Amino acid sequence: MYADIVVDISAGELDRVFEYHIPDELLDKAVVGARVSIPFGKGNRMIEGYIIDLKSDVQFDKTRIKNIQTVLDDGISAERQLITLAANMKTVYGSTMLHALKTVIPVSRQVRPLYRKYYKLHVSGDALQAQIAHCRRDKRLAGRLRMLEYLSENEQISREAAVQGLNVSTAAIKSMVTAKLIEEIQEKHYRRAVRPQTEAALHVTLNEEQQSAVKDILAAPGDVHLLHGITGSGKTEVYIELIDAMLQQQKQVIVLIPEISLTMQTVSRFYRRFGDRISVMNSRLSAGERYDQFMRAKEGDVDVIVGPRSALFMPFERLGLIIIDEEHDGAYKSESTPKYHARDVAVWRSRLCGATVVLGSATPSVVSYKKAKDGIYHLHTLTQRAKEGSCLPHVTVVDLRQEFKLKNKKIFSQPLITLMNERLEKKEQTMLFLNRRGFAGFLSCRNCGYVVKCVHCDVSMTVHYDGRLKCHYCGYEQSMPKQCPSCGSPYIAAFGTGTQKVENMVMEQFPQARVLRLDRDAASKKEGVDEILSEFKSEKADILVGTQMIVKGHDFPKVTLVGALAADLSMFSGDYMASERTFDLLVQAAGRAGRAGLPGEVVIQTYNPEHYCIQAAARQDYEAFYAQEILYRQMMHYPPFYSILAILGEAADEAKLEIAMKTLAEVIKQAETQKNAMTQEHTTGITDADRHKKDVGKLEIIGPANAFVARGKDAYRKVIYVKCQKQRPLILLKNQLEIIVQQRPDFKKIYIQYDMDPINMY
Ligand code: ADP
Ligand code: ZN
Ligand code: ZN
Repeated sequence: MYADIVVDISAGELDRVFEYHIPDELLDKAVVGARVSIPFGKGNRMIEGYIIDLKSDVQFDKTRIKNIQTVLDDGISAERQLITLAANMKTVYGSTMLHALKTVIPVSRQVRPLYRKYYKLHVSGDALQAQIAHCRRDKRLAGRLRMLEYLSENEQISREAAVQGLNVSTAAIKSMVTAKLIEEIQEKHYRRAVRPQTEAALHVTLNEEQQSAVKDILAAPGDVHLLHGITGSGKTEVYIELIDAMLQQQKQVIVLIPEISLTMQTVSRFYRRFGDRISVMNSRLSAGERYDQFMRAKEGDVDVIVGPRSALFMPFERLGLIIIDEEHDGAYKSESTPKYHARDVAVWRSRLCGATVVLGSATPSVVSYKKAKDGIYHLHTLTQRAKEGSCLPHVTVVDLRQEFKLKNKKIFSQPLITLMNERLEKKEQTMLFLNRRGFAGFLSCRNCGYVVKCVHCDVSMTVHYDGRLKCHYCGYEQSMPKQCPSCGSPYIAAFGTGTQKVENMVMEQFPQARVLRLDRDAASKKEGVDEILSEFKSEKADILVGTQMIVKGHDFPKVTLVGALAADLSMFSGDYMASERTFDLLVQAAGRAGRAGLPGEVVIQTYNPEHYCIQAAARQDYEAFYAQEILYRQMMHYPPFYSILAILGEAADEAKLEIAMKTLAEVIKQAETQKNAMTQEHTTGITDADRHKKDVGKLEIIGPANAFVARGKDAYRKVIYVKCQKQRPLILLKNQLEIIVQQRPDFKKIYIQYDMDPINMY
């Protein structure tokens, strides 16, 4: 046996792999992830490395290959955990080892100095108060104001905490230093930062449900816990308490939050409690910055990391707890190879190091909830809103078909208009959301029905606010045609409604209202998500219009009305998660209304008022939704009852792709018949019930068929789905297919990707 070895992971030299021979006596200890000592270079000086792969053959000259000297036994170090995770991800999700390693370990060849910058106040007393007053008057100085206010209560703040926690721009910091308002301190070594003194003021006393959740979770360390708490029930406070308990035990904590909810509001709650012991990660960080965080974590300089799914791979040596907030969120599934699900990988990692996993949600994924019901996970439930006086909102479901019959062709139903007018009178706020991004209008001809599609992809172009047409799939842009490209008719117009259009309609309908809009376009502009949200929070607008971005995890005390304009749009996306996603979104949205004393109202506008997912959402009844949904999943052979392997093929040559995909389908069918023949041999003479048990490995094949986007970025796309009650046969099948794809010449220029348990259909 031979091993692939990387010699220095922390320097990010992942591509340099060396081959070594494994002597027989080391065979059982030389596993993937093991740290080994090897003779290196001309002088055969002894160095250390990690085994990243095992194989029976090498490319290197066999007579000259060197032996591994020893396998070092260092328990399960963070590095070893990460390499083991990468190897698992490679096997289960399908990818090369190098790809998998690069997913878990950030690569940066830049050697960066490891210093940290701190800021302290340089002014005090009246001068400080005058500055603060000045900033309050000038909206452009909002960042400066946050910084000054923070520093008047705390001794100092790190650059990282200021930028990520308080959302102060680096330019603002620089101008404050120049103006001698604050002083910059550089430190070569990090030190354990002092905790902010505001801590005591921010403590809440947990209610009984929260307390018993904390107690029960701490009583079963190393297990997986599902914290099912309605919106506003105080899950975040439970996390904070658990983190505190971990820190007291000298343990480290990873907190995963969907990127979209990783806003200042959320992050600052953690910062205020844990100060500089916490580090925040987001996708805006450069490779170098990610690498710095990785190194800091390795050195034990931070104890808590808050971030999106990739934060799961922090090299903590004393990891005691992994929290996954909004565990049902689709953002935890990676869209690039290896297409891993952070929830599953978190559980793997916890098994390697004995950490506890806490999954939190108001609307748990059907997959996790079933596990909790089956006793695989512990279930903890929070049934009450935590804040005094806040209660669940009153929900009205409006049948849009009836509205149409009443000749109301507007996108606001009569009940919604009435309630919105009430809010405007009472000076309370309204949130309106459209539940699909890119539901901006597509362009079609009223005369012949022609739809303008991207020239590279088989998807309709959407009309952007600047009047141009854009492909959301590949980014291709073109100007709006004046006539139908097919029949020449001038009656070519946009269908559907985007947030931009809704905003205009709101202004028409309610001319006296002040309106803000938050969607991806607005978010990418200079103000950014945080700016728009904080303007809304400080009541500079009456109505906020947006996509699902606005419904995730924000706390607006003055919002007493939430309107879902077209609740069922996402129900027809044609995949098995559609109802689950719609339900989640509606419950989350309803959770925004009436959080602080004022009673809340919710209006759900829909064409399917009788659908169980709308009905259950209206009653905020997760159990009712789950009871129906689980039956549907069982009947249709969908997760959590079945595992699904999606095999996506892409190629420029459609005919070749067709043949290749048929070949794969043939291989799968053969695998199935061979297995059947085998089971039959073994099952002669046993009862039907037993035969059924043996049958759990049966593969169900769907396809090959055109993918939903049948052509994208100039490549044709076809897909095969294989379903099986167990995941294992699918993994074996995938391995078999990988070899065929690698070896056979007819798979040249055919790009095959795997997706184990996809959450979106292709
Ligand atoms: P969730 O994460 O479940 O949506 P949060 O943790 O954000 O809920 O809590 C909702 C609101 O209730 C927050 O403003 C929070 O500060 C407050 N809160 C949570 N727990 C308590 C408590 N025990 N006592 C008073 N207020 C609480
Ligand atoms: Zn036409
Ligand atoms: Zn395109």
